[in-house]
Amino acid sequence: MDRLYYRLTYAVKCQVQGDVSLALRRTHIIDGVMELNLSEDEIQRYARHILLRELGGTGQVRLKAARVLVVGAGGLGSPLALYLAAAGVGTIGLVDADVVELSNLQRQIAHGTADIGRPKVDSAAESLRRINPLVQVIRHNARLDAANMAGLLAGYDIICDGTDNFETRFLLADACVAARKTLVTAAVLRFEGQLSTFKPHEGGPCYRCLYPEPPPEGLVPSCSEAGVLGSVTGVLGTLQATEVVKEITGIGKSLAGYLLVWNALDAEFRKIRLKKDPACPVCG
Ligand SMILES: [Zn+2]
Repeated sequence: MDRLYYRLTYAVKCQVQGDVSLALRRTHIIDGVMELNLSEDEIQRYARHILLRELGGTGQVRLKAARVLVVGAGGLGSPLALYLAAAGVGTIGLVDADVVELSNLQRQIAHGTADIGRPKVDSAAESLRRINPLVQVIRHNARLDAANMAGLLAGYDIICDGTDNFETRFLLADACVAARKTLVTAAVLRFEGQLSTFKPHEGGPCYRCLYPEPPPEGLVPSCSEAGVLGSVTGVLGTLQATEVVKEITGIGKSLAGYLLVWNALDAEFRKIRLKKDPACPVCG
């Protein structure tokens, strides 16, 4: 039972519609929320979350305690990190070694025109703090490699892959298996995107069960070669943020064991069952 959910629902129902603060005061909720470690400001900020029975005050406190690493502050990482910050995820790490370029701005909405030339982690961190100064944003202005990977992952509960190259993608996926971290991964190209959650430490498949090896160089074009519709990265990054919130709060059905594929031109979603590969070199 989520006491804050019931009391906030009651307050909103019987008191002043639209003025949560007054409603909270009139029903004396403020005095009772200290146990949940949420301030009055936080209850107001996250009222629409707390009013969701499945999430409630308990879910909001879980979000506040969570530590999420966003790898890549680009097309996927922008909406992903913005929504995680707005949702009140307590600690958000951003990893990116690039600076903002003019050609990024068509889809990388955490950055603005005035940010061209600035490190992406600086520009994105500023956008996140503007939306929600209550969350802690940690900047990692670095490229993930075998040397810094384990140290970086150790500080976070959930890892999000929003990278744009297969080398980092595979390195990150393997490191998550070794570190027993949940990986929420998304990828986009042209008009299509795909999304999955990998939790091999809970018995599900890993990224390598789906893709055993990186494709030969030059076989799969990158977004810089083949293009991508800006809003497609927005949809996939937002779906990714939704799955992260579900993993943290435990609501709904995890996407672990499934691959969600969306084609924008056909306006079609497909959900494909993934199997664990018993011969997987990483998790088998
Ligand atoms: Zn595997």
